[in-house]
Amino acid sequence: MAITLMPLPYAEDALSPAISATTLQTHHGKHHKTYVDRTNAAIEGTDLAGKSLEDLIAAAEAKGDKGLFNNAAQTWNHAFYWNSLSPAAQAPSGDLAAAIDAFGGLDALKAELAAQGAGHFASGWVWLTVKDGKLAVEQTHDAATYSSLSGTPLLVIDLWEHAYYLDHRNVRPDYLKAVIDGHLAWDFAAANLASGSVWSYPA
Ligand code: MN
Repeated sequence: MAITLMPLPYAEDALSPAISATTLQTHHGKHHKTYVDRTNAAIEGTDLAGKSLEDLIAAAEAKGDKGLFNNAAQTWNHAFYWNSLSPAAQAPSGDLAAAIDAFGGLDALKAELAAQGAGHFASGWVWLTVKDGKLAVEQTHDAATYSSLSGTPLLVIDLWEHAYYLDHRNVRPDYLKAVIDGHLAWDFAAANLASGSVWSYPA
């Protein structure tokens, strides 16, 4: 069974103007789809065909197969990113809210996400993670994914230029502010915190 392109969990215009329909059409329909297609092309006819995406990522890392790793990890990262975004602003609650209080409060956490996202050099991702109940903000470069993090991922924001250039041109901080203030899916983060394990790509 091939890896499938996870559908967007909302309409293409649902995040506008922070992220426009045009950006989502290209980012999901072209970039993400290409990562899926290249992953499937790499495993077709091999003993990896039929494996879960997480198994493909682990196998690519074990074999040092950079091509498969980049495409499989980017397939995973983008699906996690779509789920990390919400059409409507949300507020953290329950155990997540308590963990955010322990971090220093929601404003401090938002500021740390914005600062690390803006400061990240070139392409990559900024993550909210948890380890032993303690929240942290972490960064990964290029296609690097959950396997490079110290903690379990709760949320991610794409820092590649294709994520924001059509809407915010070179001003990455504007994209980050619009996403962090209005479109983070705190309920997805709370579900990941409650599960205590790395989210699974839908089969
Ligand atoms: Mn992307």
